[in-house]
Amino acid sequence: MPTWLVTGGAGFIGGNFVLDAVQRGVRIINLDVLTYAGNLDTLSPLEGNLNHLFVHGDIGDAALVEALLREHQPDAVVNFAAESHVDRSIDGPAAFVQTNVVGTLSLLEKARDYWKSLDAMRRDAFRFLHVSTDEVYGTLGETGKFTEETPFAPNSPYSASKAASDHLVRAFHHTYGLPVLTTNCSNNYGPYQFPEKLIPLIIAKALNGEPLPVYGDGLNVRDWLFVGDHCAAIRAVLDGGRIGETYNVGGDAERQNIVVVKTICKLLDERRPLADGRARESLITYVTDRPGHDRRYAIDASKLQGELGWAPTVTFEQGMAQTVDWYLGNQPWVRRVLDGSYRLERIGGAA
Ligand code: NAD
Repeated sequence: MPTWLVTGGAGFIGGNFVLDAVQRGVRIINLDVLTYAGNLDTLSPLEGNLNHLFVHGDIGDAALVEALLREHQPDAVVNFAAESHVDRSIDGPAAFVQTNVVGTLSLLEKARDYWKSLDAMRRDAFRFLHVSTDEVYGTLGETGKFTEETPFAPNSPYSASKAASDHLVRAFHHTYGLPVLTTNCSNNYGPYQFPEKLIPLIIAKALNGEPLPVYGDGLNVRDWLFVGDHCAAIRAVLDGGRIGETYNVGGDAERQNIVVVKTICKLLDERRPLADGRARESLITYVTDRPGHDRRYAIDASKLQGELGWAPTVTFEQGMAQTVDWYLGNQPWVRRVLDGSYRLERIGGAA
């Protein structure tokens, strides 16, 4: 049974990844500092499962990371831990540099020392996989897609901090030989996403019949990747990715933000019509654009598809219907996030 040290595994993508990996028989050591984005409710299906150990701590705590690596001898480190919300990075960039850059550097140093201490066979098999974003590439015009060769041109404090971490990961391979892999993915959506991000935010507001805020003219384009497909891509890269390489991961589903919002309105109107009979599209409200808002992202994932045979399995329409159904079926999870009670858990559950 392999053991993986996963960081940020109480967050959206990390949580989905951990739930899936444990089910597949992987032993997971889950290190998460539980910022506002960390939610132990997400991990409640694993309660009592001996193949999941939750550790409340910071990737930047070198002594803790060293002790975890020594004690649990993982075969891989998968780094999801990050400050991840662009709007928050505009209001307060320092926390993004602290976790995404300084924290990742500390994690890399401890992983390198641990990797060096392994015997030759385990050293060959070890991997450090860093999860990053397509936002490091900046913005696109009407045409073209990001490839792994696209120069970095990050435009927000968030993407700048992720770009810095990607460079550090690359440097640890070239300088010290650490067997690293990096994935740069597009916008994820699916179960357990914190309702500050576009899709769960719009679902929560639309359900309540509240105004639906859309930045600018709503025509910014993102590629949407269903989180389950993203987790499969990470497993494929861990398994067969070439050391030192980066792999783009995309859902092949470019959509304007306004189309995403209208899709949610339609799905909810079909499932839970508003009591007064209004169509939810009437709730759409255009708001002042985010400063420096990138216009378009699009991903060329042909390297991952060609080398490792990965492809998205869920279309945008299927993924959106599944996501809306998940939020409708898991309102207690949503309510506990919205009223803040999910944070109280950590006092008893994770101290
Ligand atoms: P998230 O914000 O939902 O979760 C991040 C998790 O990391 C939280 O559980 C948080 O408590 C934890 N964390 C934060 N700082 C930490 C620290 N110093 N030490 C330990 N844990 C810490 O983020 P997400 O959406 O799940 O994203 C996961 C990763 O994927 C991030 O690295 C992000 O940059 C990347 N990514 C996300 C998306 C997306 O659409 N969500 C797209 C591309 C890339």
